[in-house]
Amino acid sequence: MTSIELKTLSIKKAHDALKAGEYTVRELVDAYLAEVESSNGDINAFLHLFTDIDERVELAQQMFTDGTATELTGIPMGLKAIIAKKGQVTNASSKILENYKATYSATVVERLEAVGVIFLGSTNTDEFAMGGTTENSAFGVTKNPTDTSRVAGGSSGGSIAAVAANMCLAALGTDTGGSIREPASFCGVLGFKGTYGAVSRYGAYPMGSSFDQVSPTAKYAADAELVQRVMRGADEYDMTCLPSNTWESKVNKDKYNIAIPSSLVDGSSDEVKEVFNKFVQELKEAGHTIEEVEIPILDTVLAIYYVLIFAEVSSNTARYDGMRYGLKAEGSDLWDEYKKTRGKGFGDEVKRRIMLGTYVLSAGYAGKYYEKALDLREQLKVELKEMFKQYDFILTPTAPVVAPKIGVMAGDPLTEYLMDIFTVTANTAGIPAISMPTGNTPGGLPVGAQLMAAWENDDALLDIAKKLGK
Ligand code: GLN
Repeated sequence: MTSIELKTLSIKKAHDALKAGEYTVRELVDAYLAEVESSNGDINAFLHLFTDIDERVELAQQMFTDGTATELTGIPMGLKAIIAKKGQVTNASSKILENYKATYSATVVERLEAVGVIFLGSTNTDEFAMGGTTENSAFGVTKNPTDTSRVAGGSSGGSIAAVAANMCLAALGTDTGGSIREPASFCGVLGFKGTYGAVSRYGAYPMGSSFDQVSPTAKYAADAELVQRVMRGADEYDMTCLPSNTWESKVNKDKYNIAIPSSLVDGSSDEVKEVFNKFVQELKEAGHTIEEVEIPILDTVLAIYYVLIFAEVSSNTARYDGMRYGLKAEGSDLWDEYKKTRGKGFGDEVKRRIMLGTYVLSAGYAGKYYEKALDLREQLKVELKEMFKQYDFILTPTAPVVAPKIGVMAGDPLTEYLMDIFTVTANTAGIPAISMPTGNTPGGLPVGAQLMAAWENDDALLDIAKKLGK
């Protein structure tokens, strides 16, 4: 078998090689499957492999023969266990859906498979995407390929670790409050979240419907861009999807104006700040303008996000009741069945969020918490709109810390929520954001930097990342 160097392989390089017949789709897929075989037992990125790989390999190879192949044809990808693929177990890393086979495919899966992408399998996540370490998965933690005593991050930790450990070329995750960007930062790969509505949410299990975006991760910005371009665009099954021509009028610049909310960034650990400051230097040397600013409302976004997310989670998880699909526990009457099913099926973090969500929505408290958070969300959008009149991007580290050791965050939800301080802003406001690998701490742990842009300026983020050689 041809030996393929997977470590530095990009989608473009793989495509050129497939096109030139240097290797076949089968050989490319087998090279990645061999990595899954050798490392997944330890890393736990994939929960299981899909049963239609062989069929998809043949279809993709046929597209090369027919001349209908595109850049993504035959490219092996991972799929977060929260994105439905017809006929395949899609369990959201939850006991409540343990053996549940999706009855239809998500729009993103259909679009990518139509151009010949081969999804290898379902990747681990915090249960229903709630968390930042994958320790809330019912099926074990995903380890960080850089240092297996640490978490890969979450919730899309399986997808990110699969890319970082050369088990696939790119992968899909979802990003509700940072779930693609935070693990990307921890594992040293790239993670991109588009403007809310860029990509259809149809078939991605909802966590916070007004926050969720299906998002790509890859080693290179150009690869994430290829995936994002195929995924995005209007979808009749998701009315929040932006029109397909949204991106046409946007122009990229040569040099960008970048704002750093300094006092917020100051709260990061010293090792993160050290790597981050080097990156700021790199940006300056590349000719971009950097200014330190104060954006006081950013200090409150974590609170706004968590109040709203708990509320949306509590209503979105109501469907898992033992009556429609998934786990069903026997009980003495309907209420007892609900209680037993949900009691057994959900893990602690999901239960915590359901309880807090019903609390912030309850009569008497809704005004104090839920409605107040909604008002502040609008205020945030107003203030960001002003900022983006002056600056192209807002820059922060992606996370204030490096990947924690396994076990450190488990049972300490408040500290875990604090890791989201920089990422939740983009989802709360609905703006696009990217996490780029910027280098490692002296101890060898990856640190990512995050850029956020104004609504619909998704392509500028990918543009600057490419210009920086990411
Ligand atoms: N860590 C965040 C949370 O737990 C974000 C999760 C996500 O983006 N899915 O809510």
